[in-house]
Amino acid sequence: SPTDLPDILGADLNSTDTERVPLRSYYPYVLVGGGTTAYHALKAIRESDPEADVLIIGAEAMPPYSRPPLSKEMWRTKSAGSRNALKFTDWQGHDQSLFYNEGMSYTVVKPDPATDRLVYSVHPERKLPILLLRQQVTDLNVDKQQITLANGHAIQYGKVLLATGGTPRALALDQTDDDDEALAAVVRARTTTFRGYQDFTRLDELTQEPHEIVIVGGGFLGSELAAALAVRTKAVGGRVTQIVPEEGVLSAVLPQYLSHWTTERLEAQGVKVLRQTEVKQVSATQLQDHRGKDRAKLVLNLSNGSQISADHIVQAVGIEPNVVLAKDAGLEIDPHHGGIAVNAELQARTNVYAAGDVASYHDVLLGRRRLEHYDHAAQSGYHAGKNMCGSRSPYLYQPMFWSDLGPDVSFEAVGLVDSKLATVSVWAKPSADAPEEYGRGLLFYLKDSRIVGMIAWNLPGKIDMARQVVLRHEFRYKHIQGLTRVFNIHQL
Ligand code: FAD
Ligand code: NAD
Repeated sequence: SPTDLPDILGADLNSTDTERVPLRSYYPYVLVGGGTTAYHALKAIRESDPEADVLIIGAEAMPPYSRPPLSKEMWRTKSAGSRNALKFTDWQGHDQSLFYNEGMSYTVVKPDPATDRLVYSVHPERKLPILLLRQQVTDLNVDKQQITLANGHAIQYGKVLLATGGTPRALALDQTDDDDEALAAVVRARTTTFRGYQDFTRLDELTQEPHEIVIVGGGFLGSELAAALAVRTKAVGGRVTQIVPEEGVLSAVLPQYLSHWTTERLEAQGVKVLRQTEVKQVSATQLQDHRGKDRAKLVLNLSNGSQISADHIVQAVGIEPNVVLAKDAGLEIDPHHGGIAVNAELQARTNVYAAGDVASYHDVLLGRRRLEHYDHAAQSGYHAGKNMCGSRSPYLYQPMFWSDLGPDVSFEAVGLVDSKLATVSVWAKPSADAPEEYGRGLLFYLKDSRIVGMIAWNLPGKIDMARQVVLRHEFRYKHIQGLTRVFNIHQL
C-alpha cells in the first residue's frame, strides 16, 4: 500500500497536541465524493475563505488523486517502488505523486476505537479540511439540507456539492453455461473494470508475467490501456488483444479514416485489434501452459463465431454517472446525457451543486452537455466551489481533454468533438520528425457550418488558440484556410 500517505494526510490522530472532537452534525460546506472535482471545489472554497469548515466524504480509501496517469505515465514508470507508492515519472523525468498535495493537508475522520464514534483531531493552529474516507453518502434531503452516511450519521449542510463521478459499466460476461461454480468464479475474478488506483496495482502485478490480456472496448480507456499494456506485455512475452464493437478505436470522436489509421498505429505497437467484434460469452477451462503447469484459462466466444483465450479481461465499456443519491432526492436527471441536471451556475437546487463527470450542465455557448474528462472535472469543480462561496457566475470555460496512445498518437481537443458532426482536417506534409501520413494536423468540427470543436493532433501547445476559435463562435468553413495559417502547423 502507498507508503507516503502521512505527508498528505497532515494532522495525526495520535498526536498529543491536538484536541479530538466528534464528527459534528453541521458543516457549512459538504463535498460528496473525493475525486478531482471535489478536490478543486475544496481549493476554490479555501481560497475564498481559508478558515472555512469543509467536510469531504469519499467512498474510496484514499484522499483525492488524479486518474489520468493510471492509463499512461504509471505504465511508463520503470521503478516498481515508485509505482507501488503511486508515484510516476512525468514527461520531464520528474517523480510525481498521483495524490493532490499542493500545500493541502487534511484531517482524517476515523472511528474512535473506544466509542466507535467518528472523530478527528483539531489542529491548534491550522484549520484543515476534514476528510471522511471509505464512507458512502446514502441519502440527500434537500428540504432539510441534510445528508446521511451509510452508518446512519446525519449531517446538515450550508451548501453541498455532488461530485460523485461515475462507475464503470460491466457487461454480463460471466454468465457462462458452466455448471462448475469454481470455474464460474474464475471468470468473475478475472473479468475486471478499471477506474481507481487499486485497479492499476492489480493489473500492474498481473502483467509482470507473460499473460494474455483482453481489453473490451474501443473508447479512451480501452485504447490508452491497450497502447500502454502493449509495451509491458511485449517486454515479458505476453499479449494484448483489444475487442472493439465499432470499425476502429475512438470512433465516437474521430472521423472514420482517422479512427482506422489510429487503429493501425495501435496494431503496429503490438496490440491485436479485433474490429466490429463483440464478446458473446466467457467461460473458464483448465489448460496446461507451455511449462506443462496447470493454469485456468478464460475462453471468449466472439460475435464473429470465433473463440480466443485470455488470462484476464479488462472491461472498458464506459461509465454510468452516479446519480442514485440525486435521483432519490428528487433532483432532475438528464434523460438524454445522463447525469444530474444543473444550470449554467452548476446549481441543481438552492444550496445544491453538481460538477464533474456526474453533472449535465447548460453550456451557454454549446448547449446542454455532460463531459467525462479531467480538465472539466477540475474547472467545473473549482467553479462550483466559487459559486458555493457566493460568486453566482455562469461556467463559461471551454474545457479541453487530451489522450496519448503510444509514441505516434497524442492529441488535445476542445469544444464539441463528435464524429457525427462534419469535419474538415488539415495535415502537415510528412517530415523528418513526423514522417507518418497523419503525423500532425488540425481537425475542425462543424455544426450549422460554424466551427464548434477542434482537435490539435500531435500539435502540443495549440489548444489555447483552438479554445479561442471555439469561444468566438463565428468562424465557419470559409475561415479554415486562414485559421490554419495562424496555427502554423508546420512549426511546433
Ligand atoms: P470521479 O473521479 O469518479 O470521483 C468521484 C468520487 O466520488 C469517487 O472517488 C467515488 O468513489 C466517490 N463517490 C461516488 N458516490 C459517492 C457517495 N455516494 N458517497 C461518497 N463518495 C462517493 N480525462 C482526461 O481529460 N484526460 C485523460 O487523460 C484521462 N485519463 C483517464 C484515465 C483513467 C484511467 C480514468 C479512469 C479516467 C481518465 N480521465 C481522463 C477522466 C477523468 O479522470 C475524469 O473525468 C475525472 O476523474 C472525473 O472526476 P470526478 O471527481 O467528477 O469523478
Ligand atoms: P468511453 O465512453 O470512452 O468508451 C466506451 C466504449 O465502450 C465505446 O467506444 C465502445 O467501444 C465500448 N462499448 C460500449 N458498449 C460495448 C459493448 N456492449 N461491447 C463492447 N464494447 C462496448 O469509456 P471508456 O473508454 O470505458 O473510459 C471510461 C471513462 O474514463 C470515460 O468517462 C472516459 O472519458 C474516461 N477516460 C478518459 C480518458 C481521456 O480523456 N484521455 C482516458 C481514459 C479514460
